Amino acid sequence: MTKYVFVTGGVVSGLGKGITSASIALLLKARGYKVFMQKFDPYINVDPGTMSPYQHGEVFVTADGAETDLDLGHYERFIDEELNYSSSVSMGKIYARVLDNERRGDYLGGTVQIVPHVTNEIKKSIYESSYSSHADIIITEIGGTVGDIEGAAILESLRQIRYELGIKNTLFVHTTLIPFLFGSNELKTKPTQQSIIELRRIGIQPDIIVARANNCLSDELKSKLSLFSSIAKENIIDAIDTNNIYQIPINFHKQKIDEIIIDHFGIAKKRINLKNWHKLINKVENLNEKAIEIAIVGKYTSLQDAYLSVAEAIKHAGYEESKNININWIDSENLEKKDLKKVFKNIDGIVIPGGFGSRGIEGKIKTIQYARENNIPFLGLCLGMQLATIEFARHVCGLKDANSCEFDDSSANLIIDIMEEQKSIINLGGTMRLGNYDCEIKNNTLAHKLYKKRNIKERHRHRYEFNDKYRSLLEKHGIVFSGINKISNLVEIIEYKNHPFFIACQFHPEFKSRPIRSHPLFKGLIRACKK
Ligand code: GLN
Repeated sequence: MTKYVFVTGGVVSGLGKGITSASIALLLKARGYKVFMQKFDPYINVDPGTMSPYQHGEVFVTADGAETDLDLGHYERFIDEELNYSSSVSMGKIYARVLDNERRGDYLGGTVQIVPHVTNEIKKSIYESSYSSHADIIITEIGGTVGDIEGAAILESLRQIRYELGIKNTLFVHTTLIPFLFGSNELKTKPTQQSIIELRRIGIQPDIIVARANNCLSDELKSKLSLFSSIAKENIIDAIDTNNIYQIPINFHKQKIDEIIIDHFGIAKKRINLKNWHKLINKVENLNEKAIEIAIVGKYTSLQDAYLSVAEAIKHAGYEESKNININWIDSENLEKKDLKKVFKNIDGIVIPGGFGSRGIEGKIKTIQYARENNIPFLGLCLGMQLATIEFARHVCGLKDANSCEFDDSSANLIIDIMEEQKSIINLGGTMRLGNYDCEIKNNTLAHKLYKKRNIKERHRHRYEFNDKYRSLLEKHGIVFSGINKISNLVEIIEYKNHPFFIACQFHPEFKSRPIRSHPLFKGLIRACKK
């Protein structure tokens, strides 16, 4: 029978619940169990695909094309499993299903209510993921904070699940903040006590507390918290701040969180294998001091979470190359008016990540020109590829008005055009070219040298494409179209011959990078920077 771990959060948001959930899943997987992960978000958007990155950070895309919360990125990077559409559930998705059922007449004239109709739909999406994933243990993180109005129906559903399946098959981890009060110089447990009372009011008694604090809790504090919350002292896990998030599973394992969970479920205590993870930590802790300076030039740079997977993928490549990486966040707005020599004075390599809309575009194009003309290693991602072709068309092929119809559809030279199948689409949400598509790589290209294979699959999220009409013109001037989707003939990878490292792709390789296995394109970039 599948076992369920539910991770809730108390006191404040942004505690690291996602990392906590991923760390638990990683440890259980390392114990030989098949795990699956899921995130519930209390908001009414059907998915984060239509939300501004300023609201929500990055939109992570799964192989099957779901636009999801960025925590799924942490999950995949920690447990090294491909998640899917059922891993990301928002209340919007749940309500949409309930309303569809109602319109179809499925409720047979009944009054549709939060309990049982909405809660049933929530439970269904948890139970269904157990059938489809065949996992031994499902780890479900609940977004938001206990006490939020939006999350009430989700917590009520979890209470019902515990009632239906029993305590032995369900386990609640409550992640909270233990603040440190300056002046009295004390860690304070009261907010945590109150958040547990709030959970109990709903009918949920947590089994484990993960206490985020700037220091370990003293024995005395743990005793106090234990008494107030009816949770054994050993089940109160310290989550102290770390420099490196990949250290967190190890910190949890030292406090036996995996054993506590296994004992609770009454399942076999298989030997743990954390060899790869220890190797990773060892690498991370022994990086070459002198950092490689990478510039990420984008328009959401004031909120770095908007480029979370890109930043992680760059760091992963650094681990593999034993190099410290320093990321320089550069706002592309007004960059075209600046002296780029000064801006990029100490920069070893440049990344232009994905993006939408026209703000900051000209600054990015000028940056690409600068990288191309000054032999600075360059990697373009999605929008970054589109802009690289526009830049080349303008400045090398002489098409001064080259543009994308996303920014100016009156231009006579739309190097980037709307995809044919996108023209009739009205809805914005969930309608881009999403998820895995095949790409065939040309022999004797940089892409082939990096990937070392001919056929790859990468994840996509875009509406516009390279306009094939211009392929031969760009080719004539030195662009190599090194990756193509054979079915649609869409351009997937371009590179520039007369440059030490200039490559860009229509997909998002960052989603497939792992700390223990960095992505070929990012590894290539860091290697080129090293040289
Ligand atoms: N805005 C571009 C498109 O929709 C690029 C998207 C992206 O970078 N993810 O095609």
